Amino acid sequence: NNEEAAAQAAAADADSGAPTIFDKIIAKEIPSTIVYEDEKVLAFRDISPQAPVHVLVIPKFRDGLTQLGKAEARHEEILGHLLYAAKIVAEKEGILDGFRVVINSGPTACQSVYHLHLHVLGGRQMKWPPG
Ligand code: C5P
Repeated sequence: NNEEAAAQAAAADADSGAPTIFDKIIAKEIPSTIVYEDEKVLAFRDISPQAPVHVLVIPKFRDGLTQLGKAEARHEEILGHLLYAAKIVAEKEGILDGFRVVINSGPTACQSVYHLHLHVLGGRQMKWPPG
């Protein structure tokens, strides 16, 4: 339908490689609630939480990783680092007993910010399948 076509077109534009709002969050030009940070990644609370714990984990240097679907072999190390950072976040947030990690890649998956990010969700009973 028209709505879906518009969303796909907007997302296609968004994946141009242009800077995103996350660059401003990394630069701390926009305030965020940081949960974990190291030299490679930043984890901060999602502005629109979908669970009691909803943290985004992002690479500080996007290096072409607008979405997981654009990953290349050179990204293997940062991808592993991001996943391990998600575990550290879950531990810090006290949800190690059960949490979910989500990556929306591309318009069909409803990705809205084209700077790779892992959603770490928990603090409530999660359902399956996701929408
Ligand atoms: O996977 P997707 O691209 O849809 O996720 C983007 C996420 O970034 C959303 O959950 C949105 O709430 C979050 N966001 C944020 N702060 C912003 C802009 C978006 O936490 N300033």
